[in-house]
Amino acid sequence: MSTRRTAIVTGSSSGIGLGVAEALAADGMDVMLNGIEPPGEVEADRARIAAKHGVEVAYSDADLMTAEGVRALVAATEGTLGPPDVLVNNAGIQHVSPVEEFADAKWQAILALNLSAAFFAVKAVLPGMKARGHGRIVNIASAHGLVASPGKVAYVAAKHGVVGLTKTVALETAEDGITANAICPGYVLTPLVEKQIPETAEVRGMTESELRRDVLLAAQPTREFVTVGQVAALAAFLCTDAAASITGATLPVDGGWTAQ
Ligand code: NAD
Repeated sequence: MSTRRTAIVTGSSSGIGLGVAEALAADGMDVMLNGIEPPGEVEADRARIAAKHGVEVAYSDADLMTAEGVRALVAATEGTLGPPDVLVNNAGIQHVSPVEEFADAKWQAILALNLSAAFFAVKAVLPGMKARGHGRIVNIASAHGLVASPGKVAYVAAKHGVVGLTKTVALETAEDGITANAICPGYVLTPLVEKQIPETAEVRGMTESELRRDVLLAAQPTREFVTVGQVAALAAFLCTDAAASITGATLPVDGGWTAQ
């Protein structure tokens, strides 16, 4: 068996996914980046990570809203870098609105990307992982996979679903050298969070600075945003041999939010 390992990180053109991709590259893995940005926008990061860590880094702009898009990403990885040893399901979107005003299309889109894409990706990579007797699946859920917040019905439902998906996959693969775990970050200051600050402030009738202080960081006893590097380091550890007995776990990285 080749010692070279390959990882797919969905939604890795920005934010947490980009940090996870770089952490895996730092551990010597070839990495398939993914996002909806055109390749030109991601080229600088792709080339930088490849050069810095001496690994192969590719990019696919497969849209993961459909099963076909997810399968195209897995096929592109197999064709370019080889069969994936690691799958990190990270791509996600958010929309904030009260339940009775929540647009049907937003519900469908959030469920499609944040939950169904993870299912289709797992389904696509598992036969190969089982055949090779080794695999690592890391699902980036959220503190909202464990607790709810107002205005986020689709996101909370999808992330709770990701936790359930993770546990089921862990049980089905427990004897195959494969682990499946969910990381549940608290608030990380990425483009996804920056974008929702104005709309969440409006839903709650607050200014943006009140929202940061009294809502976002109020939820986290540390009163600090979680960093991309902290989430990425845990994801990378879960992909090591030392983490072989960690499976089916939901691991908060949330400054104590879900301890309350
Ligand atoms: P981000 O907005 O910075 O990045 C989102 C990524 O998803 C980008 O690479 C984007 O191109 C990609 N993407 C969007 N639509 C896509 C599609 N249709 N197909 C393929 N890729 C698509 O987001 P982030 O804050 O880094 O969040 C990453 C993950 O972490 C999400 O699942 C999010 O729910 C989760 N999370 C984030 C936070 C936080 O505070 N930022 C907290 C908990 C969990």
